[in-house]
Amino acid sequence: MQAGNVDGEATRSDDEPREKCGVVGVSLSDRDAARPVYYALYALQHRGQDSAGIVTHDGFQQHDHVEMGLVGDAFDEGDLAELAGSTGIGHVRYPTAGSVDKSCAQPFSVSFNSGSLGLSHNGNLVNAAGLRDELARLGHAFTSDGDTEVIAHSLARNLLDADLSSAVEQTMRRLHGSYSLTVMYDDRVLGVRDPRGNRPLVLGELDDGYVLASESAAVDVLDGELVRDVRPGEAIVLDADGQGYESVRLFDLETTAHCFFEHVYFARPDSVIDGTLVYEARRELGRALWRESGIDTDVVMPVPDSGRAFASGYADAASETGADVEFAEGLMKNRYVGRTFIMPTQDERERAVRLKLNPIRSTVEGRTVTLIDDSIVRGTTSTQLVELLRDAGAESVHVRIGAPAIVAPCYFGIDMATREELIAADRTTEEIRETVGADSLSYLSVDAVADALDETRDDLCLGCVTGEYPYDVDGEATDRDVSRPTVGEPAEADD
Ligand code: 5GP
Ligand code: MG
Repeated sequence: MQAGNVDGEATRSDDEPREKCGVVGVSLSDRDAARPVYYALYALQHRGQDSAGIVTHDGFQQHDHVEMGLVGDAFDEGDLAELAGSTGIGHVRYPTAGSVDKSCAQPFSVSFNSGSLGLSHNGNLVNAAGLRDELARLGHAFTSDGDTEVIAHSLARNLLDADLSSAVEQTMRRLHGSYSLTVMYDDRVLGVRDPRGNRPLVLGELDDGYVLASESAAVDVLDGELVRDVRPGEAIVLDADGQGYESVRLFDLETTAHCFFEHVYFARPDSVIDGTLVYEARRELGRALWRESGIDTDVVMPVPDSGRAFASGYADAASETGADVEFAEGLMKNRYVGRTFIMPTQDERERAVRLKLNPIRSTVEGRTVTLIDDSIVRGTTSTQLVELLRDAGAESVHVRIGAPAIVAPCYFGIDMATREELIAADRTTEEIRETVGADSLSYLSVDAVADALDETRDDLCLGCVTGEYPYDVDGEATDRDVSRPTVGEPAEADD
């Protein structure tokens, strides 16, 4: 979710929340949902460390607990015990520099004439401001400036005179932008994915119920089986008794807009997206990187942890072509340093990289080195690490990146910094190489990304690497027909 609107960069300030979150929904036959939701949130902690929350329903009333901070700190035994009921949803919210506002924490809950609603949102709407004005004119009072509340009020309004799936459909017709939602309507849980499927959402089966979650790793920790990804434009309503679910495919557009960066960086490597293990997708990207810009050096080393799978695929592809490369860890990570990326000043971010990563001298000294990472955003990490490796005695340092250059901001949930901060926004690769101080630098091509993910470019959101977005963001270019309404005709219900 996002506070304010995303109408163009001009309205975007650095301390405005730009979030990439994790959502969960659980329905069980005969035990409380709070603890499974809590464990699922633990599994999704990488998707948000700012706040954590759970809403449950015990058949009579809704219970909620939302706290700032990490999942492990946000709930104690007493909190979990008070979250009664066998259905529940949860949320973890992405960190942003400076924002510690509880009004933006989720799930968002609201009671209205015909029931109670809880809502967890991952993504960003592009038309929240307009919808908010419209609903405010109809008498809806807003308590936060987030777009999640706009979805909640819109849904509550439609539920006054429609059944659940019609109300969801009417709401989806009005929403533009990216959203994966888990929703509680009284004691029922549902999952909804936007018609272009920008953010991930999966369905899993447990021994005694069903779970919806941003990533399959959350299904794994509950000892469940991944059923499948929720389809773009689909709503899945879990039975309140945990015995089954109903799927309604409300929209079926010709193209999707899956965020490629989920595969590259955001999702856990042990999650499965669209049938492919993220770890394997990253290794495939690493292989493609070798094919496109492999360079023979003594050693190939990852930037831990995000570069690891890429480096392993890259090194594999290298040795298959007969290159005599060693794959080794050349940097050790201090696991107690977190969140360097979102530190507010450049000085602190640089200090934090140094605190976080320390070279292993024997891997590096007197040798030619290829350093592999998933992405370059501001360039802080690569610049610091190239210098560090040279200080540790590297003869030369070549940098290979498993994604294309990030040239434009993300409006749909990933904190990509502002355009001014992006090192690649107005520099050529050669200029970036010089700034970073590497002997050579190569990114992976956009086509190689689509290839490795087994998608066409038309089915991916590549906004941050092409500057063309699959949704109509004011002031930005688009790479497809997004004339509103962006939704097509409702599809037939399919099971
Ligand atoms: P840079 O140091 O160039 O600003 O950022 C690149 C590093 O940050 C890479 O190691 C990458 O794994 C990581 N990174 C990329 N995107 C994100 C993000 O959205 N959030 C966080 N926390 N790290 C990111
Ligand atoms: Mg990293």
